[in-house]
Formats: sequence, C-alpha cells, structure tokens
Amino acid sequence: MNDLNTKKLYEAFPALYGDHDKPMSQTCMCWGFECGDGWFDLIWNLSKDIEAEADKAGLDSGSDNWPLAEQVKEKFGSLRFYIANGSKAIYDLIQQAEAKSCCTCEDCGLPGTTKEGSWIHTTCDVCEVLRNS
Ligand SMILES: [Zn+2]
Repeated sequence: MNDLNTKKLYEAFPALYGDHDKPMSQTCMCWGFECGDGWFDLIWNLSKDIEAEADKAGLDSGSDNWPLAEQVKEKFGSLRFYIANGSKAIYDLIQQAEAKSCCTCEDCGLPGTTKEGSWIHTTCDVCEVLRNS
C-alpha cells in the first residue's frame, strides 16, 4: 500500500494501529499494510467497524485491551488481518472483510476474481492485463 493511504489509516485509527512504529521484534505492523491500494476502502471500513465494536463493548481506546492490529497482508489472493484483543464480534467483522477481499481487485478496488496459478492473487480483468504487460 502506498505511503499516503498508509498514513491515512494510521492517522484515522491511531489506537488500532498504535504498534506501527514498534520494531519488527515486537510486531509485524512495522511493515505497514502488505497489500495493494485496491483494498484501502475494505481496510478502512473494517478498521472503523472494529473500533465501533470496541467502543460498543465499553472499551477505552487508551487502554491495553483496545483491539490492536498485529499484521495486515495479502496471502493467496485474500486479505489477512491479525489482531490482538479481538472479540467474537470483531473476528466476525474480520472474516467478512477477508471474504470480500476475494472478490475485490487488490490493485484498483473494482470487483475482481481470484486468479489461480503460481502466484494466487485477486484482480479485475483490466488490472490483470496491466500486471501481465
Ligand atoms: Zn483492478
């Protein structure tokens, strides 16, 4: 994900991504969002929903039990979102977003399909041509 989008997420959800400036010995968030910009909206909405859920559960965003992203990446064409302090409701939200990523182009965010092959990835037809050119 590009720097601008990464910064937007860090600034909008400082508690959820509070570990992003910690060293790699402590968190994988030091790598940022290891996926394409097409999933920005997906991650943005998921972040918003996770914080809303934590808020609803009566948690304090400054406390140690607030949800904390540990790693966000693409694997086998699908979003993987690892978190500490997740509740059942939060894991359900993550599962929904991960399922949605399988039909969302990782490059541009338009509807896409997961392409099999040596490198499994999810793209729309236009981005697929661009990737192969
Ligand atoms: Zn695309």
